[in-house]
Amino acid sequence: MSVAYDVDSTAGANPNDLEAFFMPFTPNRAFKARPRLVSRSKDMHYYTPEGRPILDATAGLWCANAGHNRDPIVEAIQKQAAEMDFAPPFQYGHPKAFAVSARIAALAPGDLDHVFLCNSGSEAGDTALKIALAYHATRGNATRTRLIGRERGYHGVGFGGISVGGMSPNRKLFGSLLPGIDHLPHTYNREKQAFSKGEPEWGAERAEALEGLVTLHDASTLAAVIVEPMSGSTGAIPAPKGYLKRLREICDKYGILLIFDEVITGFGRLGYAFAAERYGVVPDMITFAKGVTSGAVPMGGVLVRKHIYDTFVKSDDPVIDLFHGYTYSAHPLACAASLATLDLYREEGLFERVREIEPIWADAFHTLRAKKGVLDIRTVGLVGAVDFESREDGVGRRAYEGMERAFHEEGIMVRTAGDTFAVSPPLIINESQIGEVVDKLGRVLDKIF
Ligand code: PMP
Repeated sequence: MSVAYDVDSTAGANPNDLEAFFMPFTPNRAFKARPRLVSRSKDMHYYTPEGRPILDATAGLWCANAGHNRDPIVEAIQKQAAEMDFAPPFQYGHPKAFAVSARIAALAPGDLDHVFLCNSGSEAGDTALKIALAYHATRGNATRTRLIGRERGYHGVGFGGISVGGMSPNRKLFGSLLPGIDHLPHTYNREKQAFSKGEPEWGAERAEALEGLVTLHDASTLAAVIVEPMSGSTGAIPAPKGYLKRLREICDKYGILLIFDEVITGFGRLGYAFAAERYGVVPDMITFAKGVTSGAVPMGGVLVRKHIYDTFVKSDDPVIDLFHGYTYSAHPLACAASLATLDLYREEGLFERVREIEPIWADAFHTLRAKKGVLDIRTVGLVGAVDFESREDGVGRRAYEGMERAFHEEGIMVRTAGDTFAVSPPLIINESQIGEVVDKLGRVLDKIF
């Protein structure tokens, strides 16, 4: 199949051949029959190879919180590429690795003072789970090996992430996964929470299931609980009021580590550097990625509290503290991009801005309630999700390929998943663009239903 698009060709490669790229999380054959391509981005927009603007209502993939191709980030990457392209992250260090870690730690609540860097949210999730196991083993609690995730949770695609994750299509074909895993129930209940703005009132009691797992397995076998403050990939489900606090209390009572996966919620999405601050709960670890560089260069990481760092980093002995790491941990281009991104967030007050516009966003987004086919709408921070009537079934199928095409034709980028779509625009969105997002979404709903 051949499509004309604008790309610098290299000898021997056919730029019109879409077959070679095995696209992730995509029905390849169907997509390649009618591909949607973008080849340029700036601020709130993508552009097709033909130059048609696409309003970015998903920050790429929950990434570009500062907007696209911001000059200071572009310049920082260019400068770093010219200065030092790569540096090994162990045996040697480079200044920006330390600088960016200190900056990220300064944004985190409590004594989340140390940062382990990697390259993605998946690596961050697996890193946090490994740190949890090693923490207990190092402290002489080697029986604490059980890990607890949640139904409808998403923690990336590593074996650790899919084991604690609660999305069945991501798990089914991949063998026995990790042993010793349990899942807490998810907190979504349409009858009790429909059309919520911010944290739903109902649902904190769902945390009590953790007490049940303690009774079942005994606390001496439990290593860690990992949850997203807002489940993103399964439809933007914010933790209910009091839920995370209750998890924290139960974890404290039984010596279980609490991990927040903030790959989506980190860096301003819910109006704070980390959602932990919004919820007033300090977990033992926070995983992050995406917004840390506004998506410009891959980077992820794990914030750990002092008691965890101190468990490994005890003395001056020349003994390796943690046998874990990646060639590209603290990649210089990622560190440079992140430092410039964090500067932008601060200079433009983008996290505070989300707090200011959250009510405007929520009111505008909830007007979609009047549309046919809409079953529920949720907003929190600068996130909005719509559950719509199912018209086809089949887990993992893109039942709404038609809807994705309609969004594309309408000139808006939206994340669809099953019978939900979610939007999470760059934090630089202005009020008229909020109106444009809602109008475009409304027109697509009118067209589909
Ligand atoms: N955790 C969460 C909450 C995510 O939303 C994602 C990605 N959407 C990941 C982890 C995995 O991140 P990555 O795709 O960078 O591996």
